Amino acid sequence: MSVSDTVKYTLEENEMPKQWYNIAADLPEPPTPPLHPGTGQPLGPEELEPLFSRAVIEQEMSSERYIDIPRPVRDIYRQWRPSPLYRARRLEQALDTPARIYYKYEGVSPAGSHKPNTAIAQAFYAREEGVKRLTTETGAGQWGSSLALAGSMFGLDIEVYMVRVSFNQKPYRRAFMESFGATCIASPSDGTDAGRAILAEDPDSRGSLGIAISEAVERAMQREDTKYVLGSVLNHVLLHQTVVGLESMRQFELADDYPDTIVACTGGGSNFGGIVFPFLGEQLRGGEKVDIVAVEPANCPTLTRGKYAYDFGDTAHLTPLVKMHTLGSNFVPPGFHAGGLRYHGMAPLVSQCTDLGYVKPVSYDQKVCFEAGLRFARAEGILPAPEANHAVVAAMDAALECKASGESKAILFNLCGHGHFDMPAYMDFAAGKLHDQQYDEADMAMALAGLPTVEA
Ligand SMILES: *Cc1c(COP(=O)(O)O)cnc(C)c1O
Repeated sequence: MSVSDTVKYTLEENEMPKQWYNIAADLPEPPTPPLHPGTGQPLGPEELEPLFSRAVIEQEMSSERYIDIPRPVRDIYRQWRPSPLYRARRLEQALDTPARIYYKYEGVSPAGSHKPNTAIAQAFYAREEGVKRLTTETGAGQWGSSLALAGSMFGLDIEVYMVRVSFNQKPYRRAFMESFGATCIASPSDGTDAGRAILAEDPDSRGSLGIAISEAVERAMQREDTKYVLGSVLNHVLLHQTVVGLESMRQFELADDYPDTIVACTGGGSNFGGIVFPFLGEQLRGGEKVDIVAVEPANCPTLTRGKYAYDFGDTAHLTPLVKMHTLGSNFVPPGFHAGGLRYHGMAPLVSQCTDLGYVKPVSYDQKVCFEAGLRFARAEGILPAPEANHAVVAAMDAALECKASGESKAILFNLCGHGHFDMPAYMDFAAGKLHDQQYDEADMAMALAGLPTVEA
C-alpha cells in the first residue's frame, strides 16, 4: 500500500444500525436520576412532560440495552449515513508513528457535524406527538443549524437562542439557520425574563449556554404546543449518537482491527458518548478493554477541574438538578473559539463513567489545538471544526507516545465536524490573534461555591 492511498471503510446502507445502544443497561450502577430543584426528590416522567416529548422522556429513563431507530429517522439518516471511517495513513506518515490512527468522519452530514443524528430523531418524536414549535439554545451554532434542518424536514417552527459571543463571531451560522426557516436570537435577549435579568446586571454580557438554555426553557414553558430540545448532555441525546460508535464497530471488523484507544472532545458529551459507549459497553460485558480519552478546553475544564455534584443545567435555575461534573451554573468561560465546548456541565452518563474510572479526561489550550488541526488538514485534506481539533491534538499525542515507546496501537478518534463555518477562527489563528486566555480562578471558585445543596 502506498502512503498516498486513501484507506476508507464504508458500509452499505442496509448495514446501518437499526437500533441505538443504551449504556445504562451495562453500567454497574443505575444512572443518577434528575431531581426536582424544590423538593430534591427524583423527577417522575410526568413532571418532565411540559418540557420534553414523551418518547424522549421514556428513553431518558430507559434501561433497555437496545432501542429501535424509527423507520422515518433511518430514512433521513440514509442521506449521509453510514458515515465513513478513515485510516489516517498520511497523518501517520507525517508523524512517523507506528500507531494506526483511524477517524470516524461526522462532517458528512448536511449540517457538517454529528448533531443531526439527534436533531432528526427529536424532531420526529415531537411531530408524532403533535408539537408545533421547538425552542433550543446553541453555542457555536452547530446545534441550531442541525435543528433548523430537522425542523424544516418535519414542518416544525424552530426558535434558537444563540450565545451572543458566537452570534457575533459566526454570522454564517445564523444565515444557515434562517435559510431553513428558523428564528435565531442573540442571547441574552430582552425577550425573556431570564435574558432581561442578565442584561440588567451586565448589558455587555457575552452570554453562555447556561443563559441561552434558561431563555429557551422559559419560552417552551409558556405554550402547550411548544417543547424544548437539547442538543447534548441528556441520556437520550447520547443514545441517539451511538449510531456513530455502532457503525465504527462494524467498520473495525472490515479493517480487521480493534481500537486500543478512543479519543473524543467533550462539550456536553454527546459526540464522545456516541463513539465511546458501544465500545465501552462491550468492555463492561467482558469484552476487550479500551483506553478512553475525553478532551476538553483548558478554558472550560469541566471534567478535569469541576466537581461531581448535583447542579442546574442553566443559569436561571429553571432546569432539573442533574448529577454531573460542573464548574457551577454561573461560570462564564472566556470567549474562545470552540464555542461548542463552552458548557459549565457535562453529560451525567459521561460524568458517571469518568467517576467510575473508565475515562481519562485531559485538557488543552486552544492554540495547540489549532496547530494540530492544521497539521491534520494538510495531511488528510479535511479542515476540522475547532471543537474537533481537541480530539485531533489528543489523538496525535497518543500516536506520538507510540512513537516514543515503539508500541503500535490502534487509535480511533471522532472527527465530529468540519470547520467550514469556522473560518474566522482560522483567520484569527493565521493572523496570530488567537491567544490562550485564562479563565478567572476567583470566578470559578465563586461559581463552585454556589452549587445547590442536595441531601445525599
Ligand atoms: C456541538 C459540538 C460539539 C460539542 O458537543 P458534544 O455534545 O460534546 O459533542 C463538539 N463538536 C462539534 C463539531 C459540535 O458541533
